Amino acid sequence: MSNMWQSIDEKYQIADGYKWLSTGNDQKVPWKTVVWNRYNVPKHVFIMWLIHHQRLLTMDRLQKMGICEDGLCFLCDQFPESHQHLFEDCPYIVACFSILFRWLGIINSGLKTGEALLADRRQPLLIRLLKCAVVVALFYHVWMARNACRLELYVPRPDCLIQRVREEVKLRVNMSYVGCMPHHLQEWCKSRQLY
Ligand SMILES: [Zn+2]
Repeated sequence: MSNMWQSIDEKYQIADGYKWLSTGNDQKVPWKTVVWNRYNVPKHVFIMWLIHHQRLLTMDRLQKMGICEDGLCFLCDQFPESHQHLFEDCPYIVACFSILFRWLGIINSGLKTGEALLADRRQPLLIRLLKCAVVVALFYHVWMARNACRLELYVPRPDCLIQRVREEVKLRVNMSYVGCMPHHLQEWCKSRQLY
């Protein structure tokens, strides 16, 4: 499968691009399982892939392109906006993570990346994958919140954002099984309002 979306001569089709992203690339990178996780909501996957490649148009990148001068983060208005800031250091995502940790029962605050959650083998793989999908959903919604703030001067409260994350992941995981969810996963989902 070629990456026709990079060619100006061939007709691009979304299905081909998605297949190229999911099969022809990222074979050896540690975050491959995080991005191509069965519980991920499809619209979250592409944003997560861009985050891992640091390709979102954050203010630091726009400044380098000469498109803007003020590079402050829209969500906190305190620090320069970059991938690292938005998805690790920003007080907004820190507040979101705090709510998310309480919801998922995560005590170790170091487990805030999909890779770290997957590597923590104290829980079954399916539960780790589901937690991973929650983090991927969080990153997607933080980027959406950032865009809403930039374009509409509106920022959802962190608890409202986490509620959206919960609703989307709940829908996805329940659609994945349609009545035949493994018992241990079902029990865990019930305890986290995901079932
Ligand atoms: Zn910020």
